[in-house]
Amino acid sequence: MAYERDNIRRLQAYVPGEQPVTDRLIKLNTNEHPDPPCSAVFEAMVSLDPKILRRYPCPTALEFRKAAATAHKLDPDQIIATNGGDELLRLTITVFCNPRTPEKNTDNSSQTSESFRGGGGLGVTDPTYSLYEVLANIHDTPVTKIPLNEDWSLAADMATQLNIAGVSLAMVVNPQAPSGHLEPVSSLQKLAENFQGILLIDEAYVDFAKTDALELVRPDSGLDNVLILRTLSKGYSLAGLRFGYGMGHVNLITSLHKARDSYNTDAISQHLATAAIKNRDQVAPTWKQIIAHRQNMAQQLTSRGMEVLPSETNFLLVKIPTGYKHPAPRIYQTLKEQGIFVRYFNQPRLSDCLRITIGTPSQNQTLLTALDKMNDS
Ligand SMILES: *Cc1c(COP(=O)(O)O)cnc(C)c1O
Repeated sequence: MAYERDNIRRLQAYVPGEQPVTDRLIKLNTNEHPDPPCSAVFEAMVSLDPKILRRYPCPTALEFRKAAATAHKLDPDQIIATNGGDELLRLTITVFCNPRTPEKNTDNSSQTSESFRGGGGLGVTDPTYSLYEVLANIHDTPVTKIPLNEDWSLAADMATQLNIAGVSLAMVVNPQAPSGHLEPVSSLQKLAENFQGILLIDEAYVDFAKTDALELVRPDSGLDNVLILRTLSKGYSLAGLRFGYGMGHVNLITSLHKARDSYNTDAISQHLATAAIKNRDQVAPTWKQIIAHRQNMAQQLTSRGMEVLPSETNFLLVKIPTGYKHPAPRIYQTLKEQGIFVRYFNQPRLSDCLRITIGTPSQNQTLLTALDKMNDS
């Protein structure tokens, strides 16, 4: 399209996990919670009066921020509500990253944007959540990728590498996607202390982990460059609601508010999200169940000769060893033909892996039975 900006014309758009339209499928490909939302959300929904829709919603979702502040023992001013966690990611890039500045072509060399290094760009690990790079490309912001260690932990010199590249915002998923690895808070703290830019810790899966990084955004942490992302999509069974939030130093949150849509979250989602966060005690037991099912699935898959990475999330990254009866893409395809969706990433380090969301016990069992059938045939 001749009318598009150059970077949009070049852009490879984000590819979400498949969302089949029928219900009669086993969907273990996008890490949704297998249970319905908690009863407090149901009650909030049926008690909603459509008359509230006549007015604009609260621009800053104050009721939600107060409830989230109580839940996390923070100040409401340290919290921003967003249209899914994904909007927070976009916002941080808008606010903290610079677009690529084309070099002046004085010497006739055509190496302009491609030779650009850093200068206010985005830093990510490799691999990571693939949306990060897409969002940077939409903003025409350069991306610096720091490979993860063999065991999926962060490179020890990550801060130095980011600083040398001039990165102004780094995004780290913890617990990690797609591996499920949990980086200790001490290592994130060291990264934040040594990195000259903003560190966004994406805690989309934290409800299934044993630790979180909240202490890094407390006023007494001594850090003013950490943001934490949370979402109601995974732990709260509310992926369809599109509600997430960011937590961090008041100054960072104030900057983010400047660049968001005036009414970025709607009245219905604010109301339901508030009910969800206020009633975390209704949901928390399901996190424990999913963790137990995760441990069981890890055992089951390991006993079938697959290599299962330790996970602190609601999914498992499963490596299909060389010499296994079927390679990963084949298993993915065969399961799909039977209506069982898992995620396959055709990219370096992941091309022999499958990412499998933990479902209900019966869904998990159906998956195992299908694998056994494949191996017998
Ligand atoms: C799911 C997810 C998010 C946020 O998703 P939303 O549905 O937009 O809230 C952010 N980061 C990662 C790594 C995720 O998996």
